[in-house]
Amino acid sequence: MKIEIEPVAICRSPYKQKFAIPRQPRLVPAAVGRLELQGECNNPDLLRGLEQFDALWLIFAFHENLAQGWKPTVRPPRLGGNTRVGVFATRATFRPNGLGLSAVKLKGVGQHKGQHYIEVEGIDLLDGTPIYDIKPYIPYSDALPDASGGFAQEPPPAMTMEVSPQGREALARAEALCPGFIELASQVLAQDPRPGYKREEGERVYGVQLHQFDLRWQVKEGRNLVVDVVAVESS
Ligand code: SAH
Repeated sequence: MKIEIEPVAICRSPYKQKFAIPRQPRLVPAAVGRLELQGECNNPDLLRGLEQFDALWLIFAFHENLAQGWKPTVRPPRLGGNTRVGVFATRATFRPNGLGLSAVKLKGVGQHKGQHYIEVEGIDLLDGTPIYDIKPYIPYSDALPDASGGFAQEPPPAMTMEVSPQGREALARAEALCPGFIELASQVLAQDPRPGYKREEGERVYGVQLHQFDLRWQVKEGRNLVVDVVAVESS
């Protein structure tokens, strides 16, 4: 049966590009997202009782990847990017219905000029991601602490962040305009955003937009070195 569904919310996220978004929720707790309720769902009645819960499930679309289709097998980064497994054995973003699922912590609900929203922590969603359903996380049933995690048993190892003198000043300026930016940057870099198949060290400068800033870093001797943070011109 074919069904047609509309987004119940749109996620406003510090992640403005797919690059450097962590591979799962809660790996970057400092990434706070705002789920702005849409259309008929922009009504506080739909949120009544929600705040009794600590965490939520989000069902969303990998909307930036939908046009590229999908394949029955994929090569997960956790297997080094060379071994193929079935798409249903992975959390790959290219999948038959293009749907994502993330468990996130509930921070609170609020409204601004008639726009009702839910704030959540530790998101792994791109800015603008359409959300198709929101459900409370129910620990007694949803948590399976003894279950095997297959080839993704442990979170990936975290990298440390160092800062050049220029990076230090730039980070301080960003922090003044966007409180929490340094914590977010260090947690994002700890995940080693470089693509699994192409991890260059040395003078190569990597960059990614977080909030309204372009964070720039190099990788030297297995450590991240922030070299600059530049405000992005708003378009
Ligand atoms: N927790 C989810 C997502 C896992 S994949 C699940 O298991 O279904 C996480 C990746 O999704 C991130 O690295 C990011 O690059 C990608 N992503 C997040 N939002 C996206 C979007 N709207 N469109 C395409 N890719 C997205």
